Amino acid sequence: MIVWGYSTKTQIVKSVDIGCSHCHHKTLNIVAYKKVFDLFWIPCFPFSAQHALACPTCGTHYDISSTTIDVKTLKSSPSWKHFIGLIIFPLILGSVHVFSKMKEDNYLKEAEIYRQNIQADDKVILETDEDKKFPYVVYKVTNTSDLTITGVFSKYAYKTLDRARNAAKYPKDGDFETTESPISKEEFNTLSNIKAIVR
Ligand SMILES: [Zn+2]
Repeated sequence: MIVWGYSTKTQIVKSVDIGCSHCHHKTLNIVAYKKVFDLFWIPCFPFSAQHALACPTCGTHYDISSTTIDVKTLKSSPSWKHFIGLIIFPLILGSVHVFSKMKEDNYLKEAEIYRQNIQADDKVILETDEDKKFPYVVYKVTNTSDLTITGVFSKYAYKTLDRARNAAKYPKDGDFETTESPISKEEFNTLSNIKAIVR
C-alpha cells in the first residue's frame, strides 16, 4: 500500500518594513506556506505556495493581497528538507535491487555446485517464459541414474524466485504432478534457465 498526501511547510521569505498594527512591532515577515507532496509521510517536493504577512512578535497574520507586495516576485530558496523523499526513495529502491541481485547470484552459485551431483529430492527452480507473471516452476528430482534424471514438475508456477524457493523448501502434499518427466543428464547440464537448486 502506498501512503501519499501533502503537508504544509512554513518558510520565512524575508522581513518587510511594515509595522504591526496589533503590537506595533516595526517589521513583519513574509511567510510562505508551501504544500509539499509526501510519500509515506516523507516530503518529496513542494507544488504550491501561499503567502501571508506575520508579525514575528505577536504572531498576528495579515492578508498580503491588501499590501503592495507582488507575491509573484517573491522567491524563497527551496529547502532541501522538502525534497528528502527524492533522495531517500531512489536510495532504498537502489539498495533493494542490489541486495536482491546479490542474493540471486548466490542462488546461482549454489545451483552450479548442486548441479554437478544432482540427487533425488533436490528441487530445481526453473525460469520459464510460458507465463511472464508467474515464470518460476519447481522440478523435484525423484531419481537419478548415470544418464537420466527423473522428476516431477510443480503443479503451480510462482511469481518470484523466493516464492518458488519457499515452496521447494517446504513442499506440501499435492504440490507436484504425479506424471514423471525424465530428462537426460546431458540435456540437464546444458539448461540455462536453472535459477536455484534447493537441497
Ligand atoms: Zn505584532
